[in-house]
Amino acid sequence: MRALIDVAVIGAGPYGLSAAAHAVSAGLDVRVFGRPMRAWERHMPRGMFLKSEPAASDLADPRRVHTLDAYCRHEALPCAYGHPVPVETFTGYGRWFCERAVGDALEERDIAEVRATGDGFLLRTACEQQVRARAVVLAVGFVPFARRPPVLALLAPELCSHSCEHDRLSRFAGAEVAVVGAGQSALETAALLREAGRGPPCWPAPRNCAGTPSPSPGAARCAGSPRRTPAWAPDGGPGPGPSTPGSSATCPPAPATTRCAPRSAPPGPGG
Ligand SMILES: Cc1cc2nc3c(=O)[nH]c(=O)nc-3n(C[C@H](O)[C@H](O)[C@H](O)COP(=O)(O)OP(=O)(O)OC[C@H]3O[C@@H](n4cnc5c(N)ncnc54)[C@H](O)[C@@H]3O)c2cc1C
Repeated sequence: MRALIDVAVIGAGPYGLSAAAHAVSAGLDVRVFGRPMRAWERHMPRGMFLKSEPAASDLADPRRVHTLDAYCRHEALPCAYGHPVPVETFTGYGRWFCERAVGDALEERDIAEVRATGDGFLLRTACEQQVRARAVVLAVGFVPFARRPPVLALLAPELCSHSCEHDRLSRFAGAEVAVVGAGQSALETAALLREAGRGPPCWPAPRNCAGTPSPSPGAARCAGSPRRTPAWAPDGGPGPGPSTPGSSATCPPAPATTRCAPRSAPPGPGG
């Protein structure tokens, strides 16, 4: 078993890499565990753009040199206010940042278990190695917390999937898809599906999935439309709803009433 290290960071996404960069810079003996930017590579749809402006999308580098702007200059990519950053660019930036600001402290292995011990923590990797650390930073991100509402959990996985299960929406080629939810992931998924011509996405309100008619203004807007009229905005607007994939899912169109808005309504931020 190894000697006791100062800090073990679990997760090599934006937060884990930022925390590790600061620990390295402070001269601590640190290890960061996980594949750099895996959530962005495997759990975000191709074609997505960041909502945060480039200047607000830097990882935290203590020396402030490994910025997104510096990466884009290095790669001859555009990086300017008002120009949304593609997910692929941000993923590449995270890996570039990792090489420069984290370096040898990266261990591309997952942690399977963390246990408190008298002098710190004992970590077990997925390949049964043990690491002892004085402190542990949990930076495991959103994927372990994806939530599927109970009413949708009964549907077979091939009929109903969570938005964070897709890095490519091509599996829906030729299918008609309903997107359940009205947060960022739902709007983004619907916009990308529509751009790819995968049929008209609609937003049944969650309560409609339970079979209860929606009394919403959106339902009134829909009156007289054929049930499968292409739909856009949820009637509440962006609102305060969750913006992580914790609340959206894709599933075949529900037979219950569907809230619709005219095709001319503006797309969400992902569009
Ligand atoms: C659709 C969508 C769009 C978004 N757009 C933006 C945006 O435009 N701008 C913005 O700032 N934020 C955006 N976010 C939020 C974004 O997810 C967070 O800002 C950022 O990813 C959080 O970083 P993180 O390191 O905490 O988590 P993550 O990026 O999820 O990274 C955590 C990492 O930990 C790894 N991990 C988990 N368990 C283990 C384990 N046991 N061992 C080793 N590794 C493990 C995971 O594989 C993952 O790679 C968006 C989120 C979603 C879902």
